Amino acid sequence: MDAFPFHVTVIRTSRKRSASIRLADGKVTLRVPDTLSDKQIKDLILKKMRWIKQKLKTLSARPTPKQYASGERFAYLGKQYTLKRINGPVPSIKLTHGCFEATVRESAGNSKAIIRSLLIDWYQSHAEKYLIDKTQRFAKQIGVTPHSITVKHYKSRWGSCSVHGDIAYNWQIILAPHWIVDYVVVHELCHILEHNHSSHYWKHVERYSPNWRECRQWLTNNSNNLDAVNG
Ligand SMILES: [Zn+2]
Repeated sequence: MDAFPFHVTVIRTSRKRSASIRLADGKVTLRVPDTLSDKQIKDLILKKMRWIKQKLKTLSARPTPKQYASGERFAYLGKQYTLKRINGPVPSIKLTHGCFEATVRESAGNSKAIIRSLLIDWYQSHAEKYLIDKTQRFAKQIGVTPHSITVKHYKSRWGSCSVHGDIAYNWQIILAPHWIVDYVVVHELCHILEHNHSSHYWKHVERYSPNWRECRQWLTNNSNNLDAVNG
């Protein structure tokens, strides 16, 4: 059923006397007795609407905590890479052959904390290079000169631009696809031209990131998945 802000799979069964709702992986499944009419099913969903919406929200807000174990997947520029633990004397991490290969001492036992910090260091150093390069390229196109470009850890923002043109990014943005990173860079650089979110400002953004609306929506929908260090 698609008349709702979420998709509902309706299963009619003669083995049921009352309806039941199940929510898993962002999907809503409704099992009902086969005697129920479409109208009755719709009314049932409408009655439960608030509860379903609330439940879907809390479920999606809680990504499974990472274990930093072999086989787990980590994002980089919108692609997913499998983590592979190998034993070696010098702890290190690299992206190679489509895998994040983490070298940890065999004696390390539970290596969760070690791999987590190796991975964060890797992300941060790659974010710095990638974001500075990209900012310099877009700055030329837009015709602005940022006063400084830094990469740091923000809890709930992707970037910022001070009145003096100091731009800072959240390193976790490099988990997103490159076209999203483009938008974030353009967004901050355009603040050098216009230090607000007026319609005039968005016109500047539109010139260099025509799909900015789609990008904003993507960030709203995916911000939970860009939390690389949860767990
Ligand atoms: Zn802004």
